[in-house]
Amino acid sequence: ALTAGIVGLPNVGKSTLFNAITQAGALSANYPFATIDPNVGIVEVPDYRLQKLTELVKPKKTVPTAFEFTDIAGIVKGASKGEGLGNQFLSHIRQVDAICHVVRAFEDENITHVSGQVDPITDIETINLELILADLETVSKRITRVAKMARQKDKEAVAEYNVLEKLQEALEAETPARAVEFSDDQQKIVKGLHLLTSKPILYVANVSEEEIGEADNEKVKQIREFAAKENAEVIVICAKIEAEIAELDGEEKEEFLEDLGIQESGLDQLIKATYNLLGLATYFTAGEQEVRAWTFKEGMTAPQAAGIIHTDFERGFIRAETVSYEDLVEAETMAAARDRGRVRLEGKEYLVKDGDVIHFRFNV
Ligand code: GDP
Repeated sequence: ALTAGIVGLPNVGKSTLFNAITQAGALSANYPFATIDPNVGIVEVPDYRLQKLTELVKPKKTVPTAFEFTDIAGIVKGASKGEGLGNQFLSHIRQVDAICHVVRAFEDENITHVSGQVDPITDIETINLELILADLETVSKRITRVAKMARQKDKEAVAEYNVLEKLQEALEAETPARAVEFSDDQQKIVKGLHLLTSKPILYVANVSEEEIGEADNEKVKQIREFAAKENAEVIVICAKIEAEIAELDGEEKEEFLEDLGIQESGLDQLIKATYNLLGLATYFTAGEQEVRAWTFKEGMTAPQAAGIIHTDFERGFIRAETVSYEDLVEAETMAAARDRGRVRLEGKEYLVKDGDVIHFRFNV
């Protein structure tokens, strides 16, 4: 399963945020014993469509979908030189599919900052630099190997060499791989290198309790400006409040958010943004027994998506009876949607879309 790693300098609020994540997952009836690995937290994906489908279909049970966050602890500075837990830190990042970078945007004189002052951009760059240096090593090693073959005019080697050279230049200028432009063919070569700085990233600005629901403070503005250069998203949260919210259930939570003057908790925003960052999307199954959301990877075909429910569904796949969420809501019932010609019979090549409500037909 795809997972997003939470990284950040010490004392920025990572553990507080991660506790909120595990707490939110632990409250859910669907994941009572969720985390076997203490560094993994399971979160449910908030989705208003699931409630709406439940109202329409009135099933016995409603099951949301979920995915994982991984807490990447460890000393950061000097990681690329293998100092302290550095190597471990990098290898943990290597294993995640996207990065949530927590940045301290709150002032609190009681909580020391590792470098003595709270400067979000320096903080971001400290971590990014370690990842860049690690990638630079990967690229340099590869270049030495490929150069020989490239000199012999091996076509593939020449193509790779060009990509590597461009990457090396960028990394030396402290530009992450994700910010370098490549053609589609070149992208494939980049992908094969599994670089740390080509993983998709979003920034989490951790603000103080007083600032939640307020206009952006100076630090948040700086973070936004920095992130914009990478086309990265910024989610503003107060980790401390999120930890409190995570202990509340449905109604209590809504009241609390209302008191704060916000519509959606920062954690819920973070969950949704990370889900998108991972390239994940949701389809639904809606029967009398159960209405359920399922996570699939964008670009999956109907049989692949069916395989998420059960491997038998993929092996014996015949057709996917599909209606879009919007069409079903408009028609109100499956029968009415069918009468209106909104239910499609999709075959093996169909690429599942976010919001599809699907009934799979298969041979056993
Ligand atoms: P980590 O080292 O990044 O995991 O940081 P922690 O989650 O342990 O937080 C470091 C300290 O900052 C703890 O004392 C937290 O209570 C405090 N902290 C975290 N988030 C906030 C926040 O939003 N506001 C304030 N005032 N303190 C926070």
